[in-house]
Amino acid sequence: MKFISDKNLRKWLESLMGIGSLIAPMDLGPGLTLFSQIRDPGDVNLEYETTPIPPKDLFFPSSEALFRFSPSRGYEIPEIDGEAFLLGIRPCDALGIRLMDFPFLSEPADPRYERRRRRTTLIGLGCIKARPECFCTSFGIGPFDASNADAFLIPVKGGFLAEARTEKGAKALAAAELEEASIPIPKPPEVPSIDVGAVREVALSLFNSPYWERLADRCLSCKLCAYVCPSCYCFDIRDYPIRDGAERIRSWDSCQSPLFSRQASGYDPRQTKASRLRNRFYHKFSYFPGEFGAFGCTGCGRCVRYCPVNIDVREVLLAILRGEAKVA
Ligand code: SF4
Ligand code: SF4
Repeated sequence: MKFISDKNLRKWLESLMGIGSLIAPMDLGPGLTLFSQIRDPGDVNLEYETTPIPPKDLFFPSSEALFRFSPSRGYEIPEIDGEAFLLGIRPCDALGIRLMDFPFLSEPADPRYERRRRRTTLIGLGCIKARPECFCTSFGIGPFDASNADAFLIPVKGGFLAEARTEKGAKALAAAELEEASIPIPKPPEVPSIDVGAVREVALSLFNSPYWERLADRCLSCKLCAYVCPSCYCFDIRDYPIRDGAERIRSWDSCQSPLFSRQASGYDPRQTKASRLRNRFYHKFSYFPGEFGAFGCTGCGRCVRYCPVNIDVREVLLAILRGEAKVA
């Protein structure tokens, strides 16, 4: 472990900005911190709590043009900028990006996601406080988990302990004035854990339980849970006319949308709100692990915090695991 002092942090961030774009948590208003492009290192807030929107939109923007077409100019594919540093990403959000890699980098890889992923260095940040909704330890990570980052920082008195995890991370840290660390690694905060090991098997026996209808009676289908989730990646594609041609836009969507699963024939296999809400949980805890070998949740707790009707993924998990969702 190395140490970077608060004094040297600013110089380091300036050096990174000389190499590529710096994206980091920035205060945009009272109580609102979001990952944003940094123009002045003084704007970086490394004491933030989880941002409302995870930094997944750096790789998978909430809305983007995939291409434009006009008879006079032919096809145009919007450029993707050069090197980028994503600074201050929490372990749950770094895991979220690792989870999105499964669908987006599986053959055939999504070219725009792949290009952005290749150009970006992830500089993680340990959590010295946990929010009441955090349960990341359920998914094999924790407040100081550095495994999905290229470099990792842990806040300590007067600066940060710093560690490179990959070549990219070593290159980013090489631009910093580092000292030998003389401060021990602090104790991470305690984060409660749910033993999710059996959830996949148990869930399969609860597919037809009325529990899902009861839960769906509360759900507003507002889709907030998907938009704030670091591992949700559903999207919709539409073509729009522009002045002398057309453009194809990809935007975030959610399996909670009533038309999301409607097929070209007009048939919709998930016609009820209950079947759509059930799909959200089954995708994360049954289908995604079946396909990729990992749960599709990071335990960040955002959906718990922002659901307007208090649907709590931890309660759903416990209801499944305790068999409370079983048909009587
Ligand atoms: S945030 Fe809550 S109310 Fe909105 S779609 Fe998700 S579960 Fe339903
Ligand atoms: S399902 Fe909820 S707790 Fe899990 S990663 Fe998504 S927002 Fe976070």
